[in-house]
Amino acid sequence: MEKYDSHTHSINSLDGRQTVYDICRSAVEKGLAGVTVSDHADMWYYFSEKTLDRITSSVRDIYEAAEEYDGKLRLFRGVEMSEYLYDVANAENILKITDFDVVLGSAHCIQFGELRDAYSRLDFAVMTDEQIYEFLKKYLQEISKLLDAPFFDVLTHLTCPLRYINGKYNRGIDIMNFEKEINGILKKVISRGISLEVNTSGVGTSFDSLMPDERILGVYRSLGGEMITLGSDAHTSDRLGNAFDSTAKLLKRIGFKGYYFYEKRIGNYISF
Ligand SMILES: [Zn+2]
Ligand SMILES: [Zn+2]
Repeated sequence: MEKYDSHTHSINSLDGRQTVYDICRSAVEKGLAGVTVSDHADMWYYFSEKTLDRITSSVRDIYEAAEEYDGKLRLFRGVEMSEYLYDVANAENILKITDFDVVLGSAHCIQFGELRDAYSRLDFAVMTDEQIYEFLKKYLQEISKLLDAPFFDVLTHLTCPLRYINGKYNRGIDIMNFEKEINGILKKVISRGISLEVNTSGVGTSFDSLMPDERILGVYRSLGGEMITLGSDAHTSDRLGNAFDSTAKLLKRIGFKGYYFYEKRIGNYISF
């Protein structure tokens, strides 16, 4: 199987620990055919006013590295846009920076009562189960709203708060309590013709699960969903293409015959 990693972060993301050159070097070492650099464009968090500059730098670095790696690695221009509803004008300006190959959509930050921090930084140990379920309900509502935006190609890391709720804080919360809401999101993904990302960043960590997990991927497939991408969400070069082989096997068992990567906003199919 030709491997395309459609979700990675460079130092142009505040939490990125690898240059675009590090990404390229590691991708070649790992035998990847292509990689998308998709730095954070957070519209509400992480100094969103600096986002335009950071994505401009990201795109510049990608162009530079793509020239050097021409013929050795296919490098794509992506952006991971979060909370776009909080600053639509800035989001639109970011999309004018270049002709992106792919625009990823995600939610990192949920306005939940007094809490206004990214869920990766919240202390879920102090919340009751009831509060956590309320939080997840709000998260799923945000995701559903996000899918109404006209410019996303891929919905990334659906169920990501579970990485912290269950992975870090071991709360044993079952997202399938929201089966109806999740079905609604998956149907929206299908009807909008966008892809659902299979995010492998949690595999091999204390969370040790795909995002979304096997059950949700099974529901997506049974609803007729075919378009999936593979994303390691690597912030360090050792995580690039994480668990792609085992994930491909699992996806085949679920009934997927292949996956997609994006070039010039068009999904290209790769069979497993
Ligand atoms: Zn993300
Ligand atoms: Zn990411």
